[in-house]
Amino acid sequence: MVTRAAALDRLGTESAFQVLARANALVAEGRSIINLGIGQPDFRTPDHVVEAACKALRDGHHGYTPAKGIPELRTAVAEDVTARTGAAVDPEHVLVVPGGKVTMFFAITMFGEPSAEIVYPDPGFPIYESLVRYSGARPRPLALRERDGFAVTADALAETITPDTRLVILNTPGNPTGGVIPRAEMDRIAEVLARNPQTAVLADEIYGRLIYDGQEHVSLLSYPDLRDQVILLDGWSKTHAMTGWRLGFGVWPKALVADAERLAVNSHSCVNAAAQHAGLAALTGSQDHVAEMHAAFDARRRALVDRLNQIDGITCPNPGGAFYAFPNITGTGYAAKELETALLEDAGVATVAGTSFGAAGEGYLRLSYANTKENVLAAAARIDAWLNGARD
Ligand code: PLP
Repeated sequence: MVTRAAALDRLGTESAFQVLARANALVAEGRSIINLGIGQPDFRTPDHVVEAACKALRDGHHGYTPAKGIPELRTAVAEDVTARTGAAVDPEHVLVVPGGKVTMFFAITMFGEPSAEIVYPDPGFPIYESLVRYSGARPRPLALRERDGFAVTADALAETITPDTRLVILNTPGNPTGGVIPRAEMDRIAEVLARNPQTAVLADEIYGRLIYDGQEHVSLLSYPDLRDQVILLDGWSKTHAMTGWRLGFGVWPKALVADAERLAVNSHSCVNAAAQHAGLAALTGSQDHVAEMHAAFDARRRALVDRLNQIDGITCPNPGGAFYAFPNITGTGYAAKELETALLEDAGVATVAGTSFGAAGEGYLRLSYANTKENVLAAAARIDAWLNGARD
């Protein structure tokens, strides 16, 4: 009998994928399911990006690339991040990886050990807590509150950080809440982090270009005092509708980039070459698709939030970014997981319980509006009809 490592018992998962599997099984049985569960753009990757990958394959880009990524892509990433954050980024500090999650895995396992504490948002992307526990570090969830717009506050962060904190994870705009940290609060957060140079910071800004209502995305990389602490996580999945290509990047502090590269060499060697050429085209070619998707997400967001707020028992704060609504369902009398199950099995709407993102998510559901406006509105109508009887 094989004996596997005990650490595996501490590894969690992402229940959005379980919801998706159950939704697909119900569809296979002939049921009509509207999927607001999974967080991926419903758009195709733009044609010029697909074509760049095909051309790369035809041109013979079939071999390994440098572990950090092809030089022209790292240069394009550095220029793009510099343009968006104002921080002078050296291409040597860019590590191209197979999806944003890999930067997360590297950062958390780089700092996670039993003597370390790692701070992360709750509710937050479930892989943070999963990897923190797997690494053996002590989890320090930082509860986000609806009244703060589900944004981390500097005061709460200052109370949570201790001398043992080795990594703080911040995510703006946030999954699952759509919460955005405003500039004034980010300035104070940056001060707290600068006062704690013992901790690195994983700035998960993968939704940085999906931000609405005239708000601005404030990157932690734009604070010069934090350059030795901040690891920027970003990628192509959400901005360019490229979830299946598995392409992301990290911008690493000088002292950590060689370690990150060694982790890459020890795991995936490099990202597949054609995907890297596609990523280059996505950054350097027309950006029309980014604006088009943004406009579509924004219209659906407003429609969904309005409609959810018409449902008895539900109140939905306005999410400032990403493509998720995070309605408060306490007025329905259901617990989050209970409502997730009932809506999927009985009402034909896939959602994800707030508790799948941490204990502080009780009382909320995550609805992804990465679906057509018609479907998003039809899903809200089904939820209304199931909770309160048909009224359309
Ligand atoms: N970070 C957050 C907050 C996310 O929501 C996701 C994906 O859902 C990721 C990172 C991972 O992105 P990728 O698909 O590029 O690995």
